[in-house]
Amino acid sequence: MTQGKIGVTTENIFPVIKKFLYSDHDIFMRELVANAVDATQKLKALAASGEYAGEVGDLKVEVALDTEAKTITISDMGIGMTSEEVDKYINQIAFSSAGEFLDKYKDKIEGIIGHFGLGFYSSFMVSKKVEIDTLSWQEGATPVKWSCCGDPEYEMTEGTRTSRGTTITLFLDDDSTEFADKYKLESLLGKYCKFMPIPIVFGKEQEWKEDKYVDTDKDKVINKVEALWTRKPADLKDEDYDTFYRALYPMAEEPLFHIHLNVDYPFNLTGILYFPKVKDKLELTRNKIQLFCNQMYVTDSVENIVPEFMTLLHGVIDSPDIPLNVSRSYLQSDANVKKISGYITRKVADKLDEIARENKADFESKWDSMKLFIEYGMITDDKFCEKALGFALFKNTDGKYFSLEDYRKAIATEQTNKDGKVVYLYANDAEAQYQYIEAAKNKGYDVLLMDCPLDSHYVGLLEQKIENSVFARVDSDVIEKIVVKDEVKAPEMTDDEKKHLKEVFTSMLPEGNNYEVVMESLGETAPAINITQSEFMRRWRDMAAVGGGGMSFYGDMPASYNVTVNGDSAVIKKVQGAEGGISADSELLRQVTDLALLSAGLLKGKALNEFIKRSEELLK
Ligand code: ADP
Repeated sequence: MTQGKIGVTTENIFPVIKKFLYSDHDIFMRELVANAVDATQKLKALAASGEYAGEVGDLKVEVALDTEAKTITISDMGIGMTSEEVDKYINQIAFSSAGEFLDKYKDKIEGIIGHFGLGFYSSFMVSKKVEIDTLSWQEGATPVKWSCCGDPEYEMTEGTRTSRGTTITLFLDDDSTEFADKYKLESLLGKYCKFMPIPIVFGKEQEWKEDKYVDTDKDKVINKVEALWTRKPADLKDEDYDTFYRALYPMAEEPLFHIHLNVDYPFNLTGILYFPKVKDKLELTRNKIQLFCNQMYVTDSVENIVPEFMTLLHGVIDSPDIPLNVSRSYLQSDANVKKISGYITRKVADKLDEIARENKADFESKWDSMKLFIEYGMITDDKFCEKALGFALFKNTDGKYFSLEDYRKAIATEQTNKDGKVVYLYANDAEAQYQYIEAAKNKGYDVLLMDCPLDSHYVGLLEQKIENSVFARVDSDVIEKIVVKDEVKAPEMTDDEKKHLKEVFTSMLPEGNNYEVVMESLGETAPAINITQSEFMRRWRDMAAVGGGGMSFYGDMPASYNVTVNGDSAVIKKVQGAEGGISADSELLRQVTDLALLSAGLLKGKALNEFIKRSEELLK
């Protein structure tokens, strides 16, 4: 028997493992199963090369729980270890990387992500004692038994094992007995080992017999679903991807389409990303992209690995080139991670572009479900935006779709204003803005439907990206003043008249808002009074509502409306000709003002009630 001190530089590593990493102690399971899988893969390689000529057997990794003794065992049929190897890999080496790591990050240890490879020693996060029973694959090897009670002292003796491979036994700590629970372990295995490349067995399948569940003699395999992303795209059908999606997210609706990622230079990355049907924001955050490292689950928070908007996608990414043992802030500055993030963005953009070009109808039919994702991407990621300008669609209020380029061509002749800018008209609520949409259409203009929560930001972005363009909501003014063809000739008015006009209307309109009142000649068919909200102010208020740094100022300001009195209207002419002229005492003027409020959706409560009564009086 050998006794010794584990080759640690820091004697207090065990308390560190226990305390600081406590919140992530789940990962011991992943680390130990990953080691077992590694050892098994190595044996497979030795057998394939002919170096190992013995019986390979039915390779699997078995996890077992003894709830009485409170032990967990992880057994493999892999290459095993000789006593020299145990000495080298477990006694000497194991701490070197962890030691270095801890030295480097001593000060910020708490901010560091939990999933770094403490490897085998993470077992001490949950155990008071750990044993290794191992027999190397090599001819004539003697079995080794190693045990350690969570301090740097260990014991190593000749073991009794007769079959090739390794068994790790964890004697659970008194404060970790939660892991001595079958369901807890099964869920851990499900989380971390779902796609590992060697069958992971945990107990037996059960069957219903004589009113209770009993074990059959069939192994219960945790990782039944194949890691589809490791296969060649050419060998897979759409159904395979759909089935895999259901295995990943059993509750989710069918995805719109998928992208199979596969690159091995200058970094290694495979994966399958899915475009989910995006309905509302809540749904978005429930299912996440899962990150793997050689089929071993790492995390589902990939915020620093893919651009933020990509976190709306679903699926898996597998890359051994994403450093796991680093802090989150370091991840963002890592060159490999930047390349990976750039690659994924490009692939996603290329795929969208491909569908848009090759299957236009399909793309249009999916547009409404993807729009939020694409607009979010365009707003937050410049590179994505450049590509997306080529495939993004506009949808108009008649439900027709256009590429940005085609739309420009379609409206340029009619909707160019006197300054040579093309005015893009949009509505965000086709019902509420019906009257304005009709007014625009009567002029031969087209109106877009922009009803997505991000559209107020998006419209601002498009104004920058599309040369010589202005976006205006149809109800932001009377149409003649949105698409200004020639100067509208306003009736001559003195300053006093203007002041009077403003006073009259401010007294009739709802309090708390700011009103700019003007008299215009809008023609005999246009309404007598129009109440609109300026594009600029409304857009800022909308953006403040969606959220965005420093914009709450606009959200707090009073709403500002433009009141346009149509001097050409017969009603206004009648009011002007009557005794008292334009005045709050004029019933007729009140009536048409209320009609304007009604059409702008601003007539409510008491005012609405009074309007109804007054109307009935007038009809008598
Ligand atoms: P890592 O897996 O990152 O190398 P570990 O501390 O988990 O670090 O393991 C150290 C080494 O011990 C492994 O590289 C491997 O050589 C050996 N080892 C651990 N577990 C097993 C096992 N189940 N079978 C064979 N060798 C193992």
